Amino acid sequence: MKKPDLLITPSYIGNFKCIGGACEDSCCIGWDIELDRKTFKSYRKSGHPDLKPLFSEHVYRNRYCYSKDVDFGKIAIRDNRWCPFLDENKLCLIQGKLGEEALSNVCHTFPRHYNILNGVCELSLYMSCPEAVRLLLSSDEPIEFAESDFSVKRFIINSEIDTNGKSWRKSPLRDLQGIRMRSIKMVQDRSQPLRNRLVDLGLYMEKLTGQESLSGSVNGFSPEHLDLFIYTIESLGMMGEDESPVFSEYTEAVLEEFSGVSPGSFGKVFDAVLKPFIDENPHLLEHYLVNMLFQENFPFSPAEDPFDVYIMVVLRYSLILFYLAVMASRKGGITFEDVVSMIQIHSKIINHHKSFRYNILQEIKRRDFDSMEFISGAIL
Ligand code: SF4
Repeated sequence: MKKPDLLITPSYIGNFKCIGGACEDSCCIGWDIELDRKTFKSYRKSGHPDLKPLFSEHVYRNRYCYSKDVDFGKIAIRDNRWCPFLDENKLCLIQGKLGEEALSNVCHTFPRHYNILNGVCELSLYMSCPEAVRLLLSSDEPIEFAESDFSVKRFIINSEIDTNGKSWRKSPLRDLQGIRMRSIKMVQDRSQPLRNRLVDLGLYMEKLTGQESLSGSVNGFSPEHLDLFIYTIESLGMMGEDESPVFSEYTEAVLEEFSGVSPGSFGKVFDAVLKPFIDENPHLLEHYLVNMLFQENFPFSPAEDPFDVYIMVVLRYSLILFYLAVMASRKGGITFEDVVSMIQIHSKIINHHKSFRYNILQEIKRRDFDSMEFISGAIL
């Protein structure tokens, strides 16, 4: 890969700083840690009296490595799902004893997320880091994007797309940058409620893929929508069991609260406690969506068409509101930190389970719900 010359950075990033031991959900809990080849070898050769026995016990070669710069080796997590190099204060022993330079490319880079689109590098932050979510939501100003010279020394490229290639010549996404920017502008159009902006985005995706089906009407929330959400939340609950006790707790609460109720009861909970908070802080979910569209190169996907990608954007957005409605109803109110927590947990659970996306989309198609008539009603 040729090193890029330019870097695009969204305005929310500023000076991200990991809060280490103060983090409520460390990125060193729950996942095996990936090691690039250089770091793997340095750990294997290390003679550090405290770290050597830990390196021998926990560092192993990854047989399924896809890039030597990313996952040549791994650190196996403990039974309690903590990285074995995390001390009781959730501080990294490797960083503390050997310095930041001794961290692997993955540990050094997270939660920074780099994509390359048509030769230009783009930086954003993974929302599975709570401090990144705080930074994203902290200002109510619309997110802007600035260009600068690329000077990053250590980084991992998440995806590389070149729409100037031959295979893109006939694709509706040939102007992916332009389509994504137009989509972001739609979501940032504060002259109308966020729900309407998402409907406009769906109509745009339909037009782009030549599937215009909405006959001027936008549908409301129905028993079928509620049923689909319950189905989705049940699948999510199974995935999140080991990963986040908070997520499991709220998944149980959501199912308890909304299984078997009518859409009207859900609407009442939503309108009474959550809606006033969201109406007062409309930038929160706008920023969440803008980051998602930018980071995921919306509406590109290697396996799905742009309208399917849009469906999953709506579903992920509405799921967060669904959980927040239950939180609001149980606690009698909602706070900024509750929104941070829900976005972080959902991102951690959903973004790291690729099959979730596929399975839910298949289910939506099986039920014939993959139309704007249906999806417009799922936008909460
Ligand atoms: S999740 Fe974010 S704030 Fe928490 S330890 Fe990891 S990088 Fe630091």
